[in-house]
Amino acid sequence: MYDLLIIGAGIVGVSLGRYFQLEHNWQCLLIEREERCGQGISARNSEVLHAGFYYPADSLKAKLCVPGRAQLAAYLISNNLPYRQCGKYVLAPDEQVAELEQLYRQGLTNGVNDLDLVDGDYLHRLYPELAAMPALYSSNTGILSVDSLLHQLAGEFQAHGGDLAVQTVFHSMHRNNTGYDVTLTDIEGEEITVSAAHVINAAGLGALDVARKAGFITRYKDYELRYCKGSYFKAPDARGAFKHLIYPLPTINSLGIHIRIDLQDEVRIGPDANYLATNEEDYSVDPESEQAFREYVELYWPGVAGHQLTIDWAGIRPHIFVAGEFSHDFQVNDENESGCPGWVNMLGIDSPGLTAAPAFGPHIAELWGL
Ligand SMILES: Cc1cc2nc3c(=O)[nH]c(=O)nc-3n(C[C@H](O)[C@H](O)[C@H](O)COP(=O)(O)OP(=O)(O)OC[C@H]3O[C@@H](n4cnc5c(N)ncnc54)[C@H](O)[C@@H]3O)c2cc1C
Repeated sequence: MYDLLIIGAGIVGVSLGRYFQLEHNWQCLLIEREERCGQGISARNSEVLHAGFYYPADSLKAKLCVPGRAQLAAYLISNNLPYRQCGKYVLAPDEQVAELEQLYRQGLTNGVNDLDLVDGDYLHRLYPELAAMPALYSSNTGILSVDSLLHQLAGEFQAHGGDLAVQTVFHSMHRNNTGYDVTLTDIEGEEITVSAAHVINAAGLGALDVARKAGFITRYKDYELRYCKGSYFKAPDARGAFKHLIYPLPTINSLGIHIRIDLQDEVRIGPDANYLATNEEDYSVDPESEQAFREYVELYWPGVAGHQLTIDWAGIRPHIFVAGEFSHDFQVNDENESGCPGWVNMLGIDSPGLTAAPAFGPHIAELWGL
């Protein structure tokens, strides 16, 4: 009998496993349908530790991103893992400067205290290829290697006695007197049943499907998961041109096509945001979209015209719609009221889910009164 079963070994599931195994001394089982941890959404994102100024103060995104960033930065540094606190500028044209000021105020309300407003001349002097636009500067924003982080977290989880079962898929569950009997399928299609007092569904793109298979049909009858694809282009000859991340103002469903730098100083632009017609993991990048990327980015990076762009890769955001309406926030749903105490369904864990990853464990522990 496990204290906790976690479904899905992305950055969220692995962080939860490490937290409950090490901090609560619980016996945990982490299951993953792929061959290795972190092959889902966690393998395809901007690898940015966000400061937390985009989100409304009462949202879970704000509540978990701000402490998550601080915990993750400290963890990366103390474990000597690849990480750079590079800082970030969010640019806006003069007529939208009020939106920058709003982000600044939102940041202060959320407890983000590293922010500064700078004028257009300042940024243009720093990067002559950029338009002279006012900007919000966040010095705490950083970049990391998700792969190294996942490897470290999963290693610690297992070294402290946590069990990891890969190529193992969630099938169904039944309530018992003390928790749940969960049926899993292995790579040969063999079914095994394990018992756990608590279960967290952290299955990313598969989370709504898992919730329904677990029997939460009525609870989630109005829910729809839509795959929102974000593609990236690379600018190989711009390598080293930027020391900071450069973002436009956010849009309704994304942070906007930004200039992303990585730890090797490579420059990429992306991601855009397009809903896929069907929920299939299509990671192809449409070469025809290059012109649209250029036109979008040229508004704040006119210098992009002098650079070649090559197709890079794409990731998929798990967007949740409830009764047809986009649900902006993370959903970390304690199913006590559905008659399933100790079961949590995590839905719509989009950006900043990587940054917030270490904060989900303490949040769920609080929901469970631990
Ligand atoms: C384009 C893009 C850019 C982003 N940029 C950032 C960023 O810069 N900063 C940031 O903080 N966040 C960012 N995010 C968000 C961040 O990547 C995600 O919030 C985070 O990776 C989600 O992790 P996860 O563990 O919930 O999901 P996943 O990594 O997808 O993990 C879920 C796991 O569950 C497994 N699974 C699914 N179904 C089953 C099943 N039935 N049985 C067993 N296992 C199952 C999957 O194989 C997968 O490994 C970005 C996201 C995208 C798409």
